[in-house]
Formats: sequence, C-alpha cells, structure tokens
Amino acid sequence: MSSLVGRFTSSLPVRLTALLLGLVALSIGVMAGLGYDKLFNVTEDNAQIRIDRAARAAVSTMVYATNGRFSVDRDEEGRPARLILAEGTERETLRYSPFLDNLLAEIGLNNQGAANLLLFNADTHAFDGFATTFGRPAGLLPPPTLPPPMSIGVDHPAHAALAAARPFQGEVPVMGRLRLAYLTPIVDAEGALAGALAVDVGWKDDLIAARRDLQGALLGFSAFLLVLVGGTGIAWMTREMRPLAQLADFANDVASSRDDAPAPFLGRRDEVGALAQGLARVARLQDELEHLAFTDALTGLGNRACYQRSVKTALAAARNGQRSALLHIDLDRFSRINAAYGTAVGDAVLRHVGTVIAAAFGPHGQLSRQGDDNFAVLLTDCGSAERLQARCRRALKALDDPILFACGTVRVTASIGACLLPDHAGDADTATRNADRALQAARTGSGRFCLFSPHLNDSVRRDLSLESSLRTAIDAGELTVHYQPQIEPNTCRLTGLEALARWTHPTEGPISPAEFIAIAERSDLILKLGQTVLDMACAQARAWLDAGFDFGHVSVNVSPAQLWQPDFVAQVAACLTRHALEGQYLCLELTESMLVDRDDAYVAAKLAELRALSITLSLDDFGSGYSSLGYLHRLPFDQLKIDRAFVRSAPLDSQHGKLLQGVIALGKSLGLSVIAEGAETAEEVGLVRALGVEAVQGYFYARPVPPHEVAGALDAIEAGLDETFVAADALAGHLSA
Ligand code: C2E
Ligand code: CA
Ligand code: CA
Repeated sequence: MSSLVGRFTSSLPVRLTALLLGLVALSIGVMAGLGYDKLFNVTEDNAQIRIDRAARAAVSTMVYATNGRFSVDRDEEGRPARLILAEGTERETLRYSPFLDNLLAEIGLNNQGAANLLLFNADTHAFDGFATTFGRPAGLLPPPTLPPPMSIGVDHPAHAALAAARPFQGEVPVMGRLRLAYLTPIVDAEGALAGALAVDVGWKDDLIAARRDLQGALLGFSAFLLVLVGGTGIAWMTREMRPLAQLADFANDVASSRDDAPAPFLGRRDEVGALAQGLARVARLQDELEHLAFTDALTGLGNRACYQRSVKTALAAARNGQRSALLHIDLDRFSRINAAYGTAVGDAVLRHVGTVIAAAFGPHGQLSRQGDDNFAVLLTDCGSAERLQARCRRALKALDDPILFACGTVRVTASIGACLLPDHAGDADTATRNADRALQAARTGSGRFCLFSPHLNDSVRRDLSLESSLRTAIDAGELTVHYQPQIEPNTCRLTGLEALARWTHPTEGPISPAEFIAIAERSDLILKLGQTVLDMACAQARAWLDAGFDFGHVSVNVSPAQLWQPDFVAQVAACLTRHALEGQYLCLELTESMLVDRDDAYVAAKLAELRALSITLSLDDFGSGYSSLGYLHRLPFDQLKIDRAFVRSAPLDSQHGKLLQGVIALGKSLGLSVIAEGAETAEEVGLVRALGVEAVQGYFYARPVPPHEVAGALDAIEAGLDETFVAADALAGHLSA
C-alpha cells in the first residue's frame, strides 16, 4: 500500500509537473526569444540609422563650414560616398588647425559621438589622424599627424574600403574596444586618395553588453518562473492527489475484502466524490457477490465454497490448538420424498432439516449444504468424542420427528459421519474424505452415527481391491450361480428357483454376495454382473428344460441401474432368444429402490414391455424398508415377495403377525402371487402357509445350492414333508389369540 501511495505522491504529480514545466519553459522560451529578437533588431537598426545620420551631418558640416573647400559625392540613397577637395586646397586643408579641431568638436557634439580627420600617407598606405575630438596626448601639439590609435593601418577593418575610395560603415577597434563608425574617403580634385573623415556614435560593445544583460535577465526570470511553476505544481498536485491515494487504499481493501469501513470522501461534490461513490457501489456489489458465492440459495445455509472455506479456517485454527469436528450429514432415501411428494415438498423438507440441524448444533456449528440432501457442520466446540457422539445422536433424534405438511406427514431419517480436526486430517481433502468414509460406515451400519477411525480406511481399501478383483473375476468366469428352491408349502411342489450370484475370490475364498453386490452396485460393474447372471440362469433353465426337469421359473435379481439402461428390455429379449427360452420360464425380481429418482410412468412402461415378453415380475424385499402398497396398485407386478424381516418377526409378535396376515391378504386380493422369503423354521413356514402364501423360499426347505445339487435338495424336502404340517397346526392358535 505504501508503495502505491508513494507512486501517487511522487510519480504522478512529478510527471504532470514536469509536463507543465516543459510547456511553461517552451512558452517562456518562445516569448522571450521573440521579444529579444525584436529588441535586438530594433536596437541594431537604430544604431545603423544613427551612424548613417551622423555621417550625413558630418559631411554637410564639412562642406558648408569650410567655404567650399569640400564638395560631397553621395550614393543614390543620399549616403556620403566621398568628400572631394576643391582644386589646389589639399595642402592647407588636410593638416592640423584649431579650426578643424573645433569643427570636429562641433560635429562630435551634433552626433553625440566622436569625429576624426585622417591624412592618407602614400608611403605607409596608412590614414593618419591629424584632427580629432578625442583628447590628445600631451606634447603632441602641434602635430603633423597622430600615431595609432589615431591612424588606420592596412590591418584596420576600414582600410580596404577606404583604400579603394569607398566609404566604410561598421565596427572598428578603438583603444581595445569596438565603436560603430562611418568613414568617408577624401579625394583630391583629380580623384586621388587624400584622406578620410571618420565619425562614430559610441561603443559598439556597449550594445553587445546590453544585449547580454537582457539575455541574462530573461534567463534569470525564466528560471525563476519555472521554479515557481514547478514548486507550486508539485505542492498543489500532491495535495489534490492525496484523496486519490486514500481511495486507492480503500479500493485495495475492498479487493482483498480486508475491512468494512465506509469509503472516504463520499460527501465531496467533485470528481473525487464521484469516484468514492463508485467505489462504494463496487464494495456493496462485492459484499452481495460474496454473500451469493458462499450461500446455498435453497436453504440460506452456506454452500460448498463456504464449506471449503470453513474447513480451511478450522484447520488453520487447529494449528493453534483449537480442535473442531467436521460432520457430514446425509438424509436416507431422500430422493423418495421428491419422487413421492414432488420437489416443492422436497425443498421444504431440506429447509426444515437445515433449521433442525442448526438448532441441534447451536452457534458454534457452521452449516452448509453440499448439494442434494448432503449437509455438513463444522463444530468449533466439539468437546470429547463421547460428547460429540451424544450431540449427534440428539440431532438424529430431532431429525426423526415427523414433519407436518398440508399434504400429510413426512418422515426423514439421517446418518452422520464425523471426523476430528486435526486428529483425523491435516488438510481439507483428507478431512472431507474421512468424514465421507465415516458417513458411508454410518449409512451401512446400524447406529446411523460413525466417528472416523483409521480402520475405516482399511475397509475402503478392501472395497477398492475387491472392486478391481471383481472386474476381472467376471471375465475370468469366477462367478457362479446357485439356485434356491421356492416351494409350495401344502404340496412341497417346486414353483421356482432363485438364481443367486456366488463369487469365490482366488485368495480370499468365498465373498458374501451382500458385500460384492454392494461393491458392484457402487460402480458400473453391476451391469455386467447382472447380465452375466441372467445369461447363466437362462442357459441353466434351457439345460433343465432339455433334461425334462420342470422347475417352474428361474428368478433373477435385477438392480435398478440395469433397469435404467435404455436397452435393458432388448437385452433380456436377446438373452431369451439366445437360449431359445420362453418368457414364462423367467421371473425378474425388482426392489422398490428402482423408484428412486424415477417417475412411476417410466418404470411402469419398462415393466409393461417385460411383461409383454411373458416374463413374471416380482416385487422383492417387500416389508424390508419403506414399503408402500401404492406401488402394487400402480405397477404391473405378478408376484409379491415378502422379506425375511417380516417373516421372522411375525411368530414372535402377534401385532406383526396380523400385519403379515393383512399384507398377504391384500397381495392376494390384488391378484398377486405372494411368496414368503427367508423362512428358517417349521414355525415360520407353518405360519405363512396358514396365511395362504403361494410359495416359501427359505433355509427351512433348502439353502441356495449349485445347479447339480438342486435335485438332491428337492429329494430332501420331500422326505421332510410331515414336519411342516405339524408346525402349522401348532401356529393356528397363536394367530387367533
Ligand atoms: P435377495 O434377493 O433378497 O436374496 C435372498 C437372500 O436371502 C439370499 O442371500 C439368500 O441366500 C438369503 N436367504 C434365503 N433363505 C434364507 C433364510 O431362510 N434365512 C436367511 N438368513 N437368509 C436366507 P444371498 O445369496 O446372500 O444374497 C444376498 C443378496 O444379494 C440378495 O438378496 C440380492 O439382493 C443380492 N444378489 C444376489 N445375487 C444377485 C444377482 O445376481 N443380481 C443382483 N442384482 N443381486 C443379487
Ligand atoms: Ca431376490
Ligand atoms: Ca429378497
């Protein structure tokens, strides 16, 4: 900043002043030059006129005061060209006489200058003075002639002209100085050179000196003027520039968002005031832009940029020993709310969630929304890990409360992943990544809250390595399919077989489908995996048909990502054709999650196309989550597959039992075939059998087995037939109680 001020105060005024000085100097130079030149010429002209007049007066005096001894020859302008002596008068005229001395004195008085008469010496070619207005050295009276300086030798500037009987006008040396003189040659009656009359009008170098004085005065005055202009210019401009320098300081502060002080000079009514007002507008605009840049438009909370800024600030504070916690909050299955109630309700829910989170974490929590249903809180007063966990649990509980809207009640649940700064991260990227890992763990775990710990990284690493192994495993044929029978409980007849993927890792051994399917679903691998299982299941069905084995249908699981593929139906149709299989032998199992982020119409259209291929459609895992009977009305399912969670809890809790009873009755009333999944005990089988399910799939009958073991499993089921009937009778009383 000081360099900027320095630049303003020194450079700009100095540069402007220099420019001003240049202009002033130029105008002074031109004016003085013109004046000086004019004066010089006038003075020079006046001197020439004066000597000219002096010469004319002198010759006239000589002609008329000497009684015709001289006559005068003039040039066409009347200037004396020469004096001519009357015949025979040369001897007495051109010699010293008091008369001539007096005459010259008279001439000198007229001319206000000096006058001399000179005699030409034919031997020396010099013109020697013999009468003069100058004082004569003592003892030289009466002289014939006078020695130099009263004599004009050949080296005298006038000598050449006089020797040629021409007049001379100009500067001549006298006693070491210069005088302006006019010398008229004197000739005798025959025209021979006889002498000269010299008049002069004063010291020529007096003129030169006067000119020099004038030059000096002009230069001195100019210098004075320039110093005056320069000094005033710098002082005045520096004073005028000072507000600009202050405004520049202000602009700099605005640019670096340094402080919120108002712009100076706002009240001035000149250019500085206008500039200040402009800068104040820029500052306001900047504030607004900054607010926009860091605010989430929907919730009014911070946005991603705000999040990044507060994480960086927290990490900087961590270096000074201040701990904080970074929380990532995600709403579970939020997109279903958008799908079910529309985005307006979804937006209102997000705003509500923002308020609840803000209330839960108080003034020390900096909230931001990362996009969609992801929130983040930077807690600067996090306290111990236990206290943090307690606060997060309270927040999760507050979020669980139903939200009342005109359209009804909406429930959201959330998960929170947290990491501590600086304990778990030294930089912003790591902080974000670790909070995300904790969130991921919170979502998949049961507690819905997870504090980051280094071992989470290990599980992420395992996921990554499994993902890359799975990628090659599919091509390498490491994937197999096991089949689990679906049994009609009254007759123990086989109605179908569910195809379940199996993967044995070359070094880690068998990997649970729950694990590798989840990994595949997080990447694009699920598409290839699903297609492979479908192909293997169809091939197996073909083989069983060819062997004359009546298996009902094979059920193949379909992930939502598969259904979203535009050519999914075409892929299924191609697979059926490839194995010459009719659609009736294939059942596709879909879960409700396929409705996430999709409108029912799209799903309904896809399902209708599949149904047109005579494929059976089963709604899988019904009752495991947010089951809505609404789907059953709207979408063309054939089969309702009741989740193990329902089946397991029913015999223990009569309330659940009644619910199960209701669901089964409803499914049947909609014309769906109901199948119960995961029945492990005779009790469970007996119960669902009593409730009238069409089929049961569970460990009680058989575990999923490789295709060549299916026949053996069926034999074992037949052998244990009686067991189910006994259990069923025992349960009839439990339900009616
Ligand atoms: P799912 O579709 O609900 O499959 C039924 C799961 O319940 C199977 O687990 C099966 O072994 C298990 N199960 C059956 N009867 C019982 C029982 O009486 N008790 C218990 N505790 N469990 C029983 P699995 O094979 O581990 O598969 C887990 C999940 O992996 C499947 O659940 C399915 O969602 C997914 N999955 C398996 N194969 C595929 C596939 O090819 N494609 C897709 N997209 N998902 C698959
Ligand atoms: Ca299934
Ligand atoms: Ca299931």
